[in-house]
Amino acid sequence: MLPYSFLFMYFNIHTHTPSGQAIEIVNCTGKQAEFPHFSFGIHPWDVEKSTFTLTELSEKLNATGCIALGEIGLDKLKGPSMELQLAVFKQQIALSEKFKLPVIIHCVRAWNEIKLVKKELNPKQTWIFHGFTKTSLLKDVLENGIYISIGTAVLINKKVQDILPAIPNDRLFLETDNSNCRISAVYEKVSELKKLPLQELEQIIENNFNRVFTRWKIGSNEQNL
Ligand SMILES: [Zn+2]
Repeated sequence: MLPYSFLFMYFNIHTHTPSGQAIEIVNCTGKQAEFPHFSFGIHPWDVEKSTFTLTELSEKLNATGCIALGEIGLDKLKGPSMELQLAVFKQQIALSEKFKLPVIIHCVRAWNEIKLVKKELNPKQTWIFHGFTKTSLLKDVLENGIYISIGTAVLINKKVQDILPAIPNDRLFLETDNSNCRISAVYEKVSELKKLPLQELEQIIENNFNRVFTRWKIGSNEQNL
């Protein structure tokens, strides 16, 4: 019989450094090779220098393996003016609605602006606040229907550790972002903090993944039907 670890299927919803050890959504930003499952979007830091046309962006989003739009969002600490960031963010949200793709959100000190855009555009697609560490915002983010993705901060950040039990199981995702840490370490820590057996946590994340990333088992031909 196989040890338990071989039966687990780990899901890493946001990584820039794929390990091949899990079902991973690799964040792609350029014209480089794509991965079996990837997200594509213009990061707020890059909105000024991006040379993607709307047609090229649409082709990427319609490609086999593209299962999310992101990371996109707003950043008050880095990147061009908020006005430009907002304009490109809204354009990409419109594309997420058109291509029916969930959105991986980058939000740095811009929660109020993100919230306003959500109210204004009233999107049907799921939004996921990635690399969530702003623990004081948890209640408001949840009330706005947004999912929470927890990254490697949970391994060291006491505030993130303390709020973990307050994140509903059906709103939770896990990720490694640009860390080389294994996603299994994030699973193990979250399992401990939520007092859930690892196998149960695996099932919870898998259910969330299947519900939100509806394209992940479908090829582009079927998407286009
Ligand atoms: Zn990232």
